[in-house]
Amino acid sequence: MQKTFSNYSPSTGKKICDVEITQNYEIESAIQKAKIGFKIWKNRSGFERAKILSKAAQIIRSRYHELAQLEVIDTGKPIKEALETDIPSSADVLEYYAGVAPTIRGDYIQLEKSFAYTRREPIGICAGIGAWNYPFQIACWKSAPALASGNVMLFKPSELTPMSASRLAEIYLEAGIPEGVFQVIQGGKEVGEYLSLHPEINKISLTGSYATGKKIMENAAHNLKQVSLELGGKSPLIIFDDYDIEKAADIAILANFYTQGEVCSNGTRVFVHHKIKNKFIECLLNKVSKIKIGDPFDHSTQMGSLISRDHLHKVMSYIEKGIQEGAKLIYGGKQPEWSPSESHFSNGNFIQPTIFTDCHDEMTIVKEEIFGPVMSILDFKDEREVIERANHTKYGLGAGVITNDLTRAHRIIENLQAGMCWINNYNISPVEIPFGGFKASGFGKENGLAAIENYTQLKTVYVQME
Ligand code: NAD
Repeated sequence: MQKTFSNYSPSTGKKICDVEITQNYEIESAIQKAKIGFKIWKNRSGFERAKILSKAAQIIRSRYHELAQLEVIDTGKPIKEALETDIPSSADVLEYYAGVAPTIRGDYIQLEKSFAYTRREPIGICAGIGAWNYPFQIACWKSAPALASGNVMLFKPSELTPMSASRLAEIYLEAGIPEGVFQVIQGGKEVGEYLSLHPEINKISLTGSYATGKKIMENAAHNLKQVSLELGGKSPLIIFDDYDIEKAADIAILANFYTQGEVCSNGTRVFVHHKIKNKFIECLLNKVSKIKIGDPFDHSTQMGSLISRDHLHKVMSYIEKGIQEGAKLIYGGKQPEWSPSESHFSNGNFIQPTIFTDCHDEMTIVKEEIFGPVMSILDFKDEREVIERANHTKYGLGAGVITNDLTRAHRIIENLQAGMCWINNYNISPVEIPFGGFKASGFGKENGLAAIENYTQLKTVYVQME
């Protein structure tokens, strides 16, 4: 197997470092360590685990700037986002599950001359496999509920963003987790496959694409591993004519251009009520023209660079396809032009926020996940029609309804096939609320109390009293 891979800066194209690929024999040794770690960790009380998770959260907060910078180097996202979202929400999730750990418990069921009780037990050795858009946050979202429930985890970050997960491993050790409880495995698809096929790994949790999700399920079937999948989406954002147009445009921007559009739940199919379509577009264009794209380390930057050259080409090819199929490009669609002092960014993977109108439901840009800053605007006339069209996708991750008529909002949400719905906002995911998809967007929830169900198995004990 190849010994190393190179990690490149998304914003300049320069090499950052070479990373050692974890070889199969090293994964075997990590699994042996994980087995020893599991024996110790599962027998700790929830309260003891909580103290360690809480301490790790404090360390994250104390290393907040350094971790945010590392994330920007690796992902090309704006530093403002890393400081406001990625790192604080990672510390939050550890703190949240520190609070939950001592409360994990079973039930008591009284029966005639007997009783039963249930125990919520850890599953064992879990593998977490991450995507590249929120590397540190994904590592925390997966490991915090896993560890709080008494499991151990081998975590493989994406080969495009390998750096911050190793920092998390150091932080957990500093906070006091026993050796072997959280270990980082580096490498790409082959390493991920090795983990998903391994008979001694009991559970696998992926954040990644639909294609990878299917492959992991196939591999996991060899020893019936438990699987949870956080996959892609092509989510609808439905805007009615009774809502403030300025605010609706802000929500559409948040739902499409945050993290350069590299957000799985983005509301990229923007259904706008036909009565307000023209005004909405005018307002949107005015706002989008003010978005500052550029140096990810500049605190005023709002959009950084896409993750890689390959991904840039993929997004550009979707834009070309949109034009060929007759959608009207009304904004963006190109790489930005750089002044001489910024010429080092010309090898980066930047792309302007891009907006298409005159779209219809069967266009490629409306059907397929682009995972970049490309918004498709569609218009609609009535509620029943928009529900049907919103559900006309294999995916079911997110959905948003923007209206002042809250009865209508709840009625629509009830009929939408999506796991994470927002009313009058978008992409807000505090750690207390479960997050995860329906249909081809996967299954199993991250965050909230629901994630504990993903990382525990229920044992029932019947007790005869006579
Ligand atoms: P990807 O599926 O290419 O890779 C994800 C991870 O899986 C990487 O670590 C990769 O090395 C690994 N991998 C690839 N092939 C594998 C295989 N055959 N077996 C095991 N592991 C394998 O996805 P990506 O390009 O990193 O991320 C983009 C995708 O992730 C998008 O579809 C996006 O919507 C999705 N995503 C979903 C969420 C969510 O919470 N639902 C969050 C972020 C990203």
